Order: sequence, then C-alpha cells, then structure tokens
Amino acid sequence: MASTIKSKLYAGIEAGGTKFNCVIGTDPQTILKRTKIATSTPDVTLVEVKDWFVQQSLELGPFSALGIACFGPLDLQPASPSYGHITATPKPHWSKTDVAGYFQSELNVPVGFDTDVNGSALGEHLYGAGQNISDFVYVTVGTGIGAGIFVNGALLKGMVHSELGHIRLPRDPSQDSFAGNCSFHGDCLTGLAAGPAINARWNCSGSALPEHHPAWDLEAHYLALMCVNIVMSYSPKRIILGGGVMDQRHLFPVIRRKFAQLLNNFMLPETPLDDYIVPPGLPGTSGEVGALALAINAELELR
Ligand code: ZN
Repeated sequence: MASTIKSKLYAGIEAGGTKFNCVIGTDPQTILKRTKIATSTPDVTLVEVKDWFVQQSLELGPFSALGIACFGPLDLQPASPSYGHITATPKPHWSKTDVAGYFQSELNVPVGFDTDVNGSALGEHLYGAGQNISDFVYVTVGTGIGAGIFVNGALLKGMVHSELGHIRLPRDPSQDSFAGNCSFHGDCLTGLAAGPAINARWNCSGSALPEHHPAWDLEAHYLALMCVNIVMSYSPKRIILGGGVMDQRHLFPVIRRKFAQLLNNFMLPETPLDDYIVPPGLPGTSGEVGALALAINAELELR
C-alpha cells in the first residue's frame, strides 16, 4: 500500500566493510526509514539490501534516485567498462563487485556512486563542518583511513580517488617497534594509525585503552604528521577528522599541539587551530547524509 507522502523520496546506502547503512529520506537531513544490514558476501548482502528497498518502495512509494557511498577502492571513471565496481579490495569476496550496476538494474533508478569518505565529505560540505568552505579535507580514521578532498568547492577526483590513508610517514623504530599492518605497505599511515593497527600494536582494542595510555600520544603523533602532509599538499582552509578512532576526543588538542610543533612556523594556518583541525559537524551521520546527496545529484544530472 503506497503512503500519502507527497515529497520526492531518495534512497541512500552507506556501504561499509562491516555493515550497509540504508536510509530513505525526502532530503539529506530528513530520514524516514533506516536499517543496517551486515556486510557478508556480495551475493547475500546486495540481495538483502535490494529486497529492503523494494519493500520500502511498496510501502512509501517509488524513489527518485539512489546514492551509494561505498568502501573501495572503486572505479569512478564513467567511461570505464568497470565503472561502479569495487576494484582490488583486501576485503574477501568483494573485489570486482559491480555495486552501482547491480542496484541500477534491480531498482531501475538513477544511481549516484562515490567512495564512502567522499560521501561523508559531501555531507559535511552541505550540512556539517565544511559548510561554506571551498577547500577542506575530511579524513576518517577508523577501520581504515581515507580522505575526501574539496578543492574549489568540488570533490577532487583525479586518476582514481585519493588514497591518503596509504601515504608514507617517518617511523622511528626506537619509539615505535610495531612494523605496521597494511597488507600492501606495512607501515604506511593506515598500517600505523588505523583502528586495527592500534589493536595490533597494543594487543588491546583502542576503545578499551584509557586516556592516559601512551597509545594515544603515538596516535596523535602520526595524525599530526598526516595533517602536516595535508597542509603541504592541498593548503586547505580546514581539516575535519572523523571516524571511530576520533571519538577519542582527547586526541584533538594533542594533535593540534604536535601539528604546530611539526610545522615549526612554516605554513602555520592563521585560523586558530581549535577551528582548523575539528571534529565532524555531523558525527555518525555524515555518510548517510552524503549518500542521499549523491542520490539528488544523480537525479539532477539526468535532467
Ligand atoms: Zn598501505
């Protein structure tokens, strides 16, 4: 039975390595329905997600478009034969999965498709800590590390998309004997500072480590080095740090202090650092807001 909702409906998927967060809204900030579906294999998860949206469209009415903010790496080149696919991901079973094409054919709506972190950056740009800022970088520090980079008011696309989480940082073995756990690079940024690296280095979940544990000073050191590299590369007007690790809000003042020390008065932002390195304006929801914004963009592009 279709409802009497008069507004257009948009569907959004924040597709992560552990769950698919599925939402339906009339705009990016007005969510009518939501569910979370565990990420297992594509054959199971994509069908479960599709079935949920089909059921919702029967109850609420048809969707105008779908936006997908997906874990990657992804093929985002529209002219490529594998556009819309997850490419070579370390996540078992998901390499070469056609995510965008599957939902486009099953749901028969325009599909907007981008990385999960680009989706979050778009959400922050529209409604969060990146509003009215033409040049900013949004970084998520969680199961992995990734960045959405806004340049001149638009997301930087480039050859593929940013993989800022895999930049190389100096590691002093006398201070940090952990060799890193990135399956590609060992001690890249992700291998040193993402959630699984914290767990592996200290043999303890990060969420169980107390605030005064030395893990956090080291974590702040690596994230401050990352922020220095971001400033040198993109000269952004703000850096937003989100993701599960950044729920440890005590990290922020330590990162800012170390960042200033590392810069050593070279390229130090004029903005007070409390206002320069900041938490998200949409904590926990920037991804779903971004997914719905991708849906609206997809619909507009077809007009
Ligand atoms: Zn790496």
